[in-house]
Amino acid sequence: MNKIGVMTSGGDSPGMNAAIRAVVRTAIFNKMEVFGIRRGYQGMIEGDIFKMETTDVSNIIQRGGTILKTARSKEFMTLEGRAKAYAQLMQNGIEGLVLIGGDGTFRGANVFFEQYPIPAVGLPGTIDKDLAGTDFTIGFDTAVNTAVEAIDKIRDTADAHNRMFVVEVMGRDAGYIALNSGIACGAEDILIPELRTDIHLVIQKIKEDVRRKKNVHLLVVAEGDDFGGAEDVKKALLQDLPEADVRVCILGHIQRGGAPSFADRVLASRLGFAAVNALRAGKHQVMVGQINNEMVLTPFAEVVKQKAIIPADLQAMTYVLST
Ligand code: ATP
Repeated sequence: MNKIGVMTSGGDSPGMNAAIRAVVRTAIFNKMEVFGIRRGYQGMIEGDIFKMETTDVSNIIQRGGTILKTARSKEFMTLEGRAKAYAQLMQNGIEGLVLIGGDGTFRGANVFFEQYPIPAVGLPGTIDKDLAGTDFTIGFDTAVNTAVEAIDKIRDTADAHNRMFVVEVMGRDAGYIALNSGIACGAEDILIPELRTDIHLVIQKIKEDVRRKKNVHLLVVAEGDDFGGAEDVKKALLQDLPEADVRVCILGHIQRGGAPSFADRVLASRLGFAAVNALRAGKHQVMVGQINNEMVLTPFAEVVKQKAIIPADLQAMTYVLST
């Protein structure tokens, strides 16, 4: 394999640039040509493809976002769209792909490969950490650190005014950011999509805390919690505790941006290096992940089928440590 393409797809995550850098440099070191594909599958369809040199990835390891841009592509979901994408790859002589994205990106790669024989290796690039086959995903550590920094600041002002705060963090389907930032900030409760929320129990615990004259009541809720987002939780709290001073803070997109943490830079570098070596070794339709500090290949089909599992002890621990 002499010519490969690299792209970022789906939601962006800090550390994608470090991954692109690792892919480009490893490929060029091995005498391969690398083509950057801008805006994910949509750029592939439109032929937004350019040859990359080692200097194209200079000075980006510390930058958030992605120099290749990213997108969600409805057109790639269609047969015609994928036919156009394949034609563009052929026109550029691309023989293999490195895809940096989340489960949707790998689902797309699987469908694509069923029709066209283009080998692809994936890197888990998502702040949500909702993929099987890896202990961490690129961007998760940075996103949690961003949330922690923000929630610590909220705690200061909550304490000054004896206020209750409901902080909403990202995670439509996955509660890892909420769970980890909540634990790290000593949240009184953490509401995540993976565990059914009993709002009466949440309120009961807050009432108990109020009785014990606890000053700060900080709830961290993932945006996709089954009960609802932060505004819904606030409404429910006020129904039972009409005197309470409850404020909502939705952290939003700040969790996606910013310089990647050292952990995300190192992870992205290792995964990018391993992905190119996997392609060179003839491996395809696999995601490279890191499990117990080792690089591990998992077929796309398994990555998208399973969800990463929330360790059972964490919820119990959160309850005990916040009492
Ligand atoms: P994140 O987890 O950060 O949202 P993602 O990779 O899961 O990232 P998606 O938007 O779900 O983001 O997927 C990226 C793109 O993959 C989609 O916009 C679409 O073009 C393509 N894709 C997803 N599922 C399929 C599918 N079943 N068939 C073809 N293409 C798909």
